[in-house]
Amino acid sequence: MADRGIARAFVVGHPIAHSRSPLIHGYWLETLGIPGSYERIDVHPDSIGRFLAGLPRSGFAGGNVTIPHKEAAHRAADRLDEAAELIGAANTLWLEEGRLAAGNTDAYGFAANLDAEAPHWRKGRTALVLGAGGAARAVLFALKEAGFGDIRLVNRTLSRARELADRFGAGISAHGWEAAGALAADADILVNTTSLGMGGEGAPPVEVALLPDGAIVTDIVYVPLETPLLAAARGRGLRAVDGLGMLLHQAAPGFERWFGTRPEVTPALRGRIVADLEAHK
Ligand code: NAP
Repeated sequence: MADRGIARAFVVGHPIAHSRSPLIHGYWLETLGIPGSYERIDVHPDSIGRFLAGLPRSGFAGGNVTIPHKEAAHRAADRLDEAAELIGAANTLWLEEGRLAAGNTDAYGFAANLDAEAPHWRKGRTALVLGAGGAARAVLFALKEAGFGDIRLVNRTLSRARELADRFGAGISAHGWEAAGALAADADILVNTTSLGMGGEGAPPVEVALLPDGAIVTDIVYVPLETPLLAAARGRGLRAVDGLGMLLHQAAPGFERWFGTRPEVTPALRGRIVADLEAHK
């Protein structure tokens, strides 16, 4: 808690103007009647080490970290939660007895979104994951934790998929794009973690027609909400889950750490963010 008992939190990135985190946390502060603040801070990569080192004396209770500082936050922390350690990046910071602690809530956000929108996802054991970038790591963590024992990771650059398969251990296999169709045939869930589909352009080259009837399709891209992949999945009669819920749910654990109350992801919050996405098309 900062002076006068008002907790202050932040999101740090570079650039930061596009971040929707202030809108999410601002909504919760307002509706829960908590006299706290949540501000955006633009810090150049040259200065992020100094910024992070100064946090214990800054008056902030903690904050979020976004691109390109998630790895720096992971390095700077005195203590990491299990997800941040395995993922190799942190998106949430808080203080523990004056020392910097860091966690990664993206995996939690991914799982909580599916728990809300397609709870039977946890019965699945076979997953097809497209993409092997930063976000794919959180998805792999969540799928493994949920008990998926056969995770097929497909990426344009095969070496990056191999790296992640090695990092996350047994139960994950790495493949090139050309294998995606064959790997889809018995997948319980298809997850797009590539940036393909952003702005409505370029669906990932996987035929949803090849998925089994009960499959779930989820995209972590949320601009647009209905990506070409999700539209195709719905057209095929499959359960399709958009990526906005992941963004909303990943914010909740940080809010609770800084402001002391676990906030809820409600249709009203979602409506507020959807309106903002619409306004900035
Ligand atoms: P990243 O680290 O840059 O990884 C991008 C991934 O997309 C890589 O696997 C890359 O393949 C693939 N890719 C990019 N262009 C491609 C193309 N033309 N053809 C085939 N593959 C292509 O990005 P990231 O941080 O993982 O983020 C990925 C997406 O997830 C972004 O759209 C981001 O906004 C979204 N995201 C959403 C949430 C949420 O809360 N919903 C959270 C995090 C991220 P290569 O390895 O071959 O380059």
